[in-house]
Amino acid sequence: MTIQWFPGHMTRARRQIEEKLKLIDVAIELLDARLPSSSRNPMIAEILGVKPRLVLLNKSDLADPAMTERWMERLAEEQVKVLPIDAAAGTNVRMILPRCKELMAPKFEAWRKKGMEPRAIRSLIVGIPNVGKSTLINRLAGRSVAATGDRPGVTKGQQWIRIGKELELLDTPGILWPKFEDPMVGYRLAATGAIRDEILNVEDVAFYLAKVLAARYPNVFSERYGIEKLPEDMENPHEVVELLEAIGRRRGAVMSGGKIDLKKASDVFLRDLRTGKLGRITLEAPE
Ligand code: GDP
Repeated sequence: MTIQWFPGHMTRARRQIEEKLKLIDVAIELLDARLPSSSRNPMIAEILGVKPRLVLLNKSDLADPAMTERWMERLAEEQVKVLPIDAAAGTNVRMILPRCKELMAPKFEAWRKKGMEPRAIRSLIVGIPNVGKSTLINRLAGRSVAATGDRPGVTKGQQWIRIGKELELLDTPGILWPKFEDPMVGYRLAATGAIRDEILNVEDVAFYLAKVLAARYPNVFSERYGIEKLPEDMENPHEVVELLEAIGRRRGAVMSGGKIDLKKASDVFLRDLRTGKLGRITLEAPE
């Protein structure tokens, strides 16, 4: 489910996270490895303040590994810990606790000096809808605890989930709104399925995706669709549409009379991206 974010929702979502932040030691910020900038809440730094932060690049199984490396370097410049994970399969999820412990070192030291007993690290997962928060909570908890679906404004009783002896996690994640200002961000989010298809026109999203892939991953067209020759000028909308039609022709989106069903071609193309059939793809670079 994707929420329509109105200013009132944003204010409420922010207030809810700020309440939860009072309870925790470490914030776990979940980003989509295929679009680490577009999947990041525009006010995240302000909302989390000085709270120690672990940034997880989720769905890294679908992202371009070389680009993930570059994103990790870029994000590490923010003095946060960064880890690529695949919450669905569990890859690297085991590394979350050691990273949290590194972030906690100053606090552990302060506790020790005061003669306090160390206790489990209290954490909260935050991120935009569909980034994999519930999947990660379930994966960490080892059972189905987090209800999937996002409803800002619905408060449930907070509960701590114990993950081993050393880590505790709030059972409801902090749900943040994505960036909207830049239409390109909207298209990237839509291409990966983070925004419901009804919100943006599917053909427009596919059009955008064709342009990005032609620039960044031109081989996918021959590898997946047998299209050997890309249009000369991807700035020419007609040529981009011809490319989408060529995809449709290869993938059975032909209507009676031989015309291409562009909506169907777009759906197929987007589904191929989302299910990893086009290979591991990252839609934006750090610079
Ligand atoms: P939430 O809205 O942030 O709680 O997101 P969900 O946990 O409901 O996940 C959204 C979708 O992404 C679901 O279909 C998950 O199966 C899928 N998903 C989550 N994590 C990963 C991952 O690491 N890799 C892949 N391929 N899919 C994932």
